[in-house]
Amino acid sequence: TRKHHVVVLDLTMPEVSGYDVLRYLHAEGVDAKAIVVSGDATFDAAKKALRLGAFDFINKGRGSDELLSAVGRAVERRHAEHIRQVLQARLEHSDALLRFVVHSSPDLVYVLDRDGRFTFVNDRFSALLGQEAAALIGTHYHDIVVAPDRAAAEHVFEERRTGVRAVRHAGLRLISKKKRDDASGDGSVVHVEINATGVYTDDRRNAEHYLGTLGVARDVSDQRRAQEIIKFQAYHDLLTQLPNRALFKDRLSVAIAQARRNRTLLAVMFLDLDRFKIVNDTLGHAMGDRLLKSVANRLTGCLRRGDTLSRFGGDEFTLLLPEIRAADDVANIARKILDEVGAPFLIDGHELYVGASIGIAVYPEAGESAQALLQNADIAMYQIKTQRQGGFAFFNEAMHHHISTRQSIEQELRAALEADELDLMYQPCVRLADGHNDSLEALLRWRHPRRGLLLPAEFLPVAEESGLIVRLDEWVQQRAFAALAGWRKEGHEALRLSVNVSAQQLAQARFVERFFEMISAGGIDPAAVIIELTETLMSRDVDGVVPKLTALRERGVSVTIDDFGTGLSSLSYLQRFPVDTLKIDPSFMQGVRVDDDVGMVPAIAALARGLKLQLVAEGVESRAQLLHAKRHGLDRAQGYLFAKPIEAGRVSNLLSGGGFAALVRGLPTVPGRDQLRQ
Ligand code: C2E
Ligand code: CA
Ligand code: CA
Repeated sequence: TRKHHVVVLDLTMPEVSGYDVLRYLHAEGVDAKAIVVSGDATFDAAKKALRLGAFDFINKGRGSDELLSAVGRAVERRHAEHIRQVLQARLEHSDALLRFVVHSSPDLVYVLDRDGRFTFVNDRFSALLGQEAAALIGTHYHDIVVAPDRAAAEHVFEERRTGVRAVRHAGLRLISKKKRDDASGDGSVVHVEINATGVYTDDRRNAEHYLGTLGVARDVSDQRRAQEIIKFQAYHDLLTQLPNRALFKDRLSVAIAQARRNRTLLAVMFLDLDRFKIVNDTLGHAMGDRLLKSVANRLTGCLRRGDTLSRFGGDEFTLLLPEIRAADDVANIARKILDEVGAPFLIDGHELYVGASIGIAVYPEAGESAQALLQNADIAMYQIKTQRQGGFAFFNEAMHHHISTRQSIEQELRAALEADELDLMYQPCVRLADGHNDSLEALLRWRHPRRGLLLPAEFLPVAEESGLIVRLDEWVQQRAFAALAGWRKEGHEALRLSVNVSAQQLAQARFVERFFEMISAGGIDPAAVIIELTETLMSRDVDGVVPKLTALRERGVSVTIDDFGTGLSSLSYLQRFPVDTLKIDPSFMQGVRVDDDVGMVPAIAALARGLKLQLVAEGVESRAQLLHAKRHGLDRAQGYLFAKPIEAGRVSNLLSGGGFAALVRGLPTVPGRDQLRQ
């Protein structure tokens, strides 16, 4: 179809009237300007034609000039109208586009009026807040901001500035009515970052022309959550969720500054679990982790408001007690903690006993910096740990001279293994029937270059915690087996030797093979070897331990339970464990009278007889104790009464000395009371 811009017509034409043509043009929407040229130049005819849409009406008699100028005007008008149409179409299109962009934007777009009420929100905004746009329009912004952020929100939402000084990236939390994914049904919080700018009717930007604010906000909840997790991870221990070392030090520094200002005291506790390493090594890390979590829970229960508990690392915890009134307060808390941690943990059917040693440093007396307080609390902890495991101690200056830190002991101990600073002492274990000296126990010593001869109590806890104990035990065994081979060759063919086996050594997967390798490397008969295990480890890993002990005994090695009676477990396990001998803990020999028939020794003796086990008394220092042991039918005894642990070089002499017959002679095995009373 051709486009006509201008139509020129008469009113009276053959077959059709000009009015009909005008009607037709209108009805068909023909976009052309009609100029009527007519001889019927009455006013009515012109009016009717114009009403029907004619652009102009010209009297036929007026000549062509007028017609030409009318056509010129018509063409011009037609063109102008066309341009307007195009512009209009474009405008409508861009408006729709703008609307589309605004509504589908990932950003939240809103407009507030001068009173702070929403006049526009985009789809994203209403979706995020879980409210229809219609419901939000007219709502005051206060109502969608979480209470603690309302003050800050005023700066953002009532932004009157424009341009570079307008609010950029202000973080706020808005209330959303949207159900969360977890379908908890509660409203949730969305974190947004807002850029807002004031809107004015003209450039003067004064209060009179202020219309409201236009804002664009971005949902940064996911980002915030990720940041929070990262921040949490940087400052917390993931296993227990407790603050970590870094956060603890931070809080401690803040607390010290406060205490200095207010002239108050504060205390730092350093807590180390006592038998954790054994659990971890014998029952596995998963079990160790669960135990740590339970310990953390119990410790948390001992806290007061404002205290900070942290997992410092491994099985170490630190506790910050700001604003204490007196050392007594701290002692009470320490006691409470020891009670809590000392009670058995029931985990996965295992009854676990750990216990803790606690060192305490009080500001300002025990240090004025975070570093000093922590180190001194550690020293005090270590002091208590080496003395008796389980308990607490306050740091005092004297400790500095006696005690190195655990880290330094561990380093030195590693070096000592290489530098040949370790040594063995041997203590005889005497047969009570005839005083014969038929076995020795190998006991470890550390000849420390500065601190002199160190007893195991001073370094074994560190060795256990660092895992070095396994290497120490193997060192002891190799050295002792070689020495034993020598003495047997010298003529003491029946001599036997006891070595202490730590829980961790026993837990080694290849323990049995390694042990026999060392025995054969030493060139001795397995039947000459006795291993001593502590009772506590027996109750833990029954399934792992029994096959190992069985394998050892099948080839002649004897198994002794050391420190018997101090363990916390029931005696029923004795029937399940393949053991030969019980070594009664020295504490049961203390204060006994010769003719006591009550107490632990008679009870254990009765039990041992029933189970056909050998019995050894340990820590026998007096004749009364010896008599008591004999009276209840114990087989052997060990203690200062016979000999203290001696150096390897003196063992030959001792063995040739003929034993301790004189000491044990003349005492009936089951004496009558009257005889003893003489
Ligand atoms: P234990 O196995 O119960 O060793 C007996 C401890 O009692 C020894 O202390 C010994 O010197 C001491 N003792 C002996 N007779 C008497 C006495 O009449 N009175 C008193 N008060 N004490 C007496 P030591 O040598 O200091 O050893 C302490 C602990 O260190 C040992 O206790 C043992 O558990 C551990 N230990 C020693 N050597 C080793 C080793 O090579 N490996 C392992 N894993 N542990 C070892
Ligand atoms: Ca022992
Ligand atoms: Ca013992």
